[in-house]
Amino acid sequence: MKIGIDLGGSHIAIGVVNNLGRIQEKIEKRILPKEKNNIKNVIEEYIITNVKNFTSKYQITELGMAVPGTIEGKKIKRSVNLNLENYNLVEILEEKLELPIIIKNDAKCAAIAEHKYGCLKDYDRTLFLTLGTGIGGAVIINNKLLDTGEYPGCEIGHMIIEKDGIECNCGKKGCFEKYASMKTLKNNLRKVLNVSEKTRGEELFEIIRNNSKENPNYEEIEKIIKEYITNLSIGITNLVNIFEPEAVGIGGSFVFFEEVLLQRLKNEILNSNLLFNKREEFNIRTAILGNDAGIIGATIN
Ligand SMILES: [Zn+2]
Repeated sequence: MKIGIDLGGSHIAIGVVNNLGRIQEKIEKRILPKEKNNIKNVIEEYIITNVKNFTSKYQITELGMAVPGTIEGKKIKRSVNLNLENYNLVEILEEKLELPIIIKNDAKCAAIAEHKYGCLKDYDRTLFLTLGTGIGGAVIINNKLLDTGEYPGCEIGHMIIEKDGIECNCGKKGCFEKYASMKTLKNNLRKVLNVSEKTRGEELFEIIRNNSKENPNYEEIEKIIKEYITNLSIGITNLVNIFEPEAVGIGGSFVFFEEVLLQRLKNEILNSNLLFNKREEFNIRTAILGNDAGIIGATIN
């Protein structure tokens, strides 16, 4: 058995995973705002205590970690969500826990988990995108993550889809995630509806679902959805034209909007004349492992 750790922007989840990819036992905690000042200690203490507890109960051979950010070698080079830079967490934990540790970007972990056990399990060549605050993902060819050498690679969210476009946190302009992340969609909807920044995803989903011509905001909401779908399909078809995956999977908070977005996205991809190789059907599906994808994917080599 292995231990998978999902280190999120606001939580830490640790699970014992068997060799069929099933979680046997799991424990998690929220990272409180006041703990952010002391984040390294909080992370290290929580992991060390709970992993030791699990290793006393189970025969553990390896530990895997999913981290939101850029991983170089075994080091967390940068994680904006956790406000960490050049953090050698693996080295610290290896010393204390005496277990081999692997570490990967969280979107890549989700991609591997969905590829092996989730929505993409019937295919050898897949593309997976996480649409949330930003856009992450991975390309899997013949059941292996695309090897990008010494650089992390697969920076799907930072593919440029508009020259001199909206400025991105990465310092470039026109990045895909500034147009097609769920954060962008939600913020654009909040703006046009003139509602608070705190309006939750569930409410926005209902607004889209119930949008009808009787609604005074009908046109504006439609325009935002249409623009979002167009931008998302541009990014996805660029990748499809390059890699020709058998299936595309989408995770992140997009999953909660599946009912109002997925079919429109599929139609746009098939009918917008962006695909180099035309086809009648396009295989696109949403993630099914939910919050467990990080833990499970962290344990897959
Ligand atoms: Zn960018």
